[in-house]
Amino acid sequence: MASISISPGRERRRITVTGVVQGVGFRPFTYALARELGLSGSVGNTSAGVVVQVEGDPTDIATFLRRLASQTPPLAIVESITFDTIPARGGTEFIIEDSVAGIGRTMVSPDVATCAECRSDLTGPAGRRHRNPFVTCTNCGPRFTIITGLPYDRPNTTMAAFPMCDSCAAEYADPADRRFHAQPICCPDCGPRLRLVRPGVESSWDEAALAEARRLLLGGAVVAVKGIGGYHLACDATDETAVQTLRKRKGRGDKPFAVMLDSLGAAQTLANVDADSAALLTGPRRPIVLVERRTDPPYPDALRLAEAVAPGGPDLGIFLPYSPLHHLLFGTQGDPPGPRALVMTSGNLAGEPIVIDDDEALVRLSGLADAWLVHDRPIQVPCDDSVVRVLDGAELPIRRSRGYAPGGLPLPIAATRPIVAAGAQLKSTFCVARGREAYLSPHLGDLESDLALRAFDADLSLFLAMLSVQPEVVAHDLHPGYLATKWALEQEAELVGVQHHHAHAAACLAEHGREGPALAVVFDGTGLGTDGTLWGGEVLRCDLRSFERVAHLEPVPLPGGEAAIREPWRMAAVYLERAGRPVTWERWPLVRESLKVNAPLSSGMGRLFDAVAALLGLRERVSYEGQAAIELEQLAGEVEAEPYGCGVSGAVIAGSDLVRAAHDDLAAGRPAAEIAAAFHEGVAAAAALACAEAAEPRTIVLSGGTFQNLRLLASSRTRLEELGFEVLTHRRVPPNDGGISYGQAAVAAARTSRLSV
Ligand code: ZN
Ligand code: ZN
Ligand code: FE
Repeated sequence: MASISISPGRERRRITVTGVVQGVGFRPFTYALARELGLSGSVGNTSAGVVVQVEGDPTDIATFLRRLASQTPPLAIVESITFDTIPARGGTEFIIEDSVAGIGRTMVSPDVATCAECRSDLTGPAGRRHRNPFVTCTNCGPRFTIITGLPYDRPNTTMAAFPMCDSCAAEYADPADRRFHAQPICCPDCGPRLRLVRPGVESSWDEAALAEARRLLLGGAVVAVKGIGGYHLACDATDETAVQTLRKRKGRGDKPFAVMLDSLGAAQTLANVDADSAALLTGPRRPIVLVERRTDPPYPDALRLAEAVAPGGPDLGIFLPYSPLHHLLFGTQGDPPGPRALVMTSGNLAGEPIVIDDDEALVRLSGLADAWLVHDRPIQVPCDDSVVRVLDGAELPIRRSRGYAPGGLPLPIAATRPIVAAGAQLKSTFCVARGREAYLSPHLGDLESDLALRAFDADLSLFLAMLSVQPEVVAHDLHPGYLATKWALEQEAELVGVQHHHAHAAACLAEHGREGPALAVVFDGTGLGTDGTLWGGEVLRCDLRSFERVAHLEPVPLPGGEAAIREPWRMAAVYLERAGRPVTWERWPLVRESLKVNAPLSSGMGRLFDAVAALLGLRERVSYEGQAAIELEQLAGEVEAEPYGCGVSGAVIAGSDLVRAAHDDLAAGRPAAEIAAAFHEGVAAAAALACAEAAEPRTIVLSGGTFQNLRLLASSRTRLEELGFEVLTHRRVPPNDGGISYGQAAVAAARTSRLSV
């Protein structure tokens, strides 16, 4: 072998970059940077992150390191850059190494909204991908929802069936191209095709299909539109009849629909969109953002939504187009008029998982849609739209799914063996944990149907394959009736039962990287306690391993069990009796009989909210979970009121004190909005009082579904901070049951950690 001459002064460094650096265009970025600076070496993906070797002039290497940290691709999040010096080898080439499959695989990236460059390919002057509904690049497009196996390479995506044409193949292979190794790359010559399907009518294709879909939508039809993570049911959000039709067909009750708008400008004519919400709306994840509706449309011909979109409520769920097809549906310059605002609701029946399969869409959505806008790029993993609220500039996740899943979450105590956490029943998710990372599944719907259970099984298999682990520890809720618990109990693994509200608290601790100890205020619907009653108005002292119950809402019977959750007036009646006030509902004497046979005890905070909502005449029956509480929050708005007094004696928070005060004010003619406000403040003040009595530790987490309520969350936090506590709230996983599995995983990791003995 000839000796290699190495010029003096040359250096070689081995650099490891960790964070979100794989599948986000990091290798081509590194390649381009090294070439620009005249450095040789290589870049590759390993289980530790991206590993780069560069060799050349020390000044150039220093520049390389600086720019590596500061000019990363849009989707990359660099957590650390470490390097050491190794012997120089000479050479002039810089090589991109292939990914290595195997142990310690990293997860695929979440799906990413169409980037600005692809958008101009789509709408700009004619190019290869002008008006192509499948335009993507390294910086955007479907990822998680098209993966069929690992490693994440074209053959392991649902694009495998589309051989690249020569032009696409050249772009795919060119490190200097924006589409270098963009797995879903395609063009009109080699990619999927759009098709409009209508019963009894011959299908139309491509531009004709798109034009037909836009015409149908404008004419008031409901069109099933195949999206990124599943089918949507779409209709013109300004068309009262169309929206009412969709509402009726979907069996939606009064639950508000989310609305997709073509631009931030349109969103601003409908709602008060602050800078943080605007950043979320236009960012790469594109969740549905719940914002406050404008009551003062800015000019006479401003966009007006149909009443039936979100009846009565002051809030609106809005989102912006995130796939090229969405942009095309709204139309581009020169198109005939189309819809200006679209109701876009998950293509499913209430509680079922979102439909992803084309044949299934035709069957399951047959009573719901008038036409189907489909294409032949299969969706592999169902992923509903994510939903967030914004409080003081931070996200409060309500549903963490498309754009977020399967992004990793921290585990403060490492899982020494792989863990699967099965989650709860409603808003179900599961969580797979390995080492210091936890991966939360997308939203699976309510785990009550075979369809949801099938989605659970399929997604779990995929997660296990992606992470190449087998579960050795399985964590589950204590409720024996949950399908997730039943599933867990059948697994051959070490089982860890985690109390529901401890899991909520642990989720909040863990997402902040904390082990505790802390106090936890967990206000929730209902979850099974360790004493066999239903809990849900809890103050716990806990860490990730264990908890003690330091205070709780006074338990009351739920008359008729589940029926009491569907009919909040029953809760009002129970609470009024306890408060020593008359119950005027004529049905009460009859329903009261159920107290003798079916009335489980519950300390659920959600039920107290239900009671006050019913008392104020908001709602005697609900058509979806949490409806009464949501309407009570909306009624309270930002009305100022002194808190109602609420006794906290011993370990018991006397919820009936609040109901008595509300009743008496109502009888005295005080406006309902003020009563709702005083009630919210009273609950927050009671939480603060209970924590003040518990005194230690000085850190508090706020979790549980009731803390989706921004007024309660903000007021509780302020009151606790005024008492000198450090307060942690959810920013990455939902406070509702969608976050339970992550909390279970954090507890299971802590309890099975080898370091814990
Ligand atoms: Zn792009
Ligand atoms: Zn092509
Ligand atoms: Fe819960």
